[in-house]
Amino acid sequence: MEPCRVDLHTHSKASDGTDTPAELVRKAATQKVRYLSLTDHDTLAGLAEAEVEANVLGLTFIHGVELSTDWLGKEMHILGYGVQPTLHFQSFLHQMIESRNRRNRKMIEVLQSKGMKISEEEVRAKAGGEEILSRPHFAQVLVEKGYALSRQDAFDRYLAAGASCYVPRESPDYPACIKAIREAGGVAVFAHPYLLQPSPKELRIILQALVKAGLQGLEVWHSDHPEDMQIFYEKMATDYHLLCSGGSDYHGSNKPHIEVGSGHHHNVNITDSRIPTLLIQRIQENRA
Ligand code: AMP
Ligand code: FE
Ligand code: FE
Ligand code: ZN
Repeated sequence: MEPCRVDLHTHSKASDGTDTPAELVRKAATQKVRYLSLTDHDTLAGLAEAEVEANVLGLTFIHGVELSTDWLGKEMHILGYGVQPTLHFQSFLHQMIESRNRRNRKMIEVLQSKGMKISEEEVRAKAGGEEILSRPHFAQVLVEKGYALSRQDAFDRYLAAGASCYVPRESPDYPACIKAIREAGGVAVFAHPYLLQPSPKELRIILQALVKAGLQGLEVWHSDHPEDMQIFYEKMATDYHLLCSGGSDYHGSNKPHIEVGSGHHHNVNITDSRIPTLLIQRIQENRA
């Protein structure tokens, strides 16, 4: 029998992926994924649809979300697993979306000030009626209008952190994000540490701070983590008594090099069902 696959980090159209939640679940099933989480940025909007399809296809589905925060001015992401849609958590997410909208409006102004004809409506149209407008939607418009050669070119020239039209977004600090996840009954996991490019010493400082704030897990396996890094992060998770987690960070055709269930050239290869089982156990303990 083939081993089951585990993917605990994916995005749908509800944020910046390109598959509907149900399409994503069907693709995961085709790729032999048995344990799946949908972790859209700042929203729970896709979870209900994904869960229905997962039940039909016999996948174990874990509710997820990915929150953006910062560490000393650099973007940091925290995953929340098993979060419940309490009024308090919904209102927390609503504030995240409002700060995202303010950032988006400023970014439109900066693009327009540089002579590009781009409107919020055009960007919104790319989000297909979903609440979350994100930079990949901006990139699509910039490519279509000929201001960029490709999605990556749009990021490199205009949208990436530090690029000419980048506007940072105000976000709650990491203790507030971890607290919001925990209060909603969720397990907080530090997503893709690689994004911060920390040295081993910096990573220890970060983990100490996050654990103090209530962190319970570390994303060890991820499409942007080379194998030696995955081995190192697994050791760090042991040192700080954190659950090991991982996933592809699949975004559909917004990140075409990433496959659901296996990442980039099969560099995410989680086949040990203890990984999701321990996470599900911890979710249940948090709720109790
Ligand atoms: P937003 O949530 O609107 O800030 O957009 C974040 C998304 O933009 C990420 O999840 C990636 O999909 C994409 N992204 C961010 N930085 C880059 C980059 N430098 N190159 C390509 N895609 C990026
Ligand atoms: Fe994303
Ligand atoms: Fe992320
Ligand atoms: Zn992600």
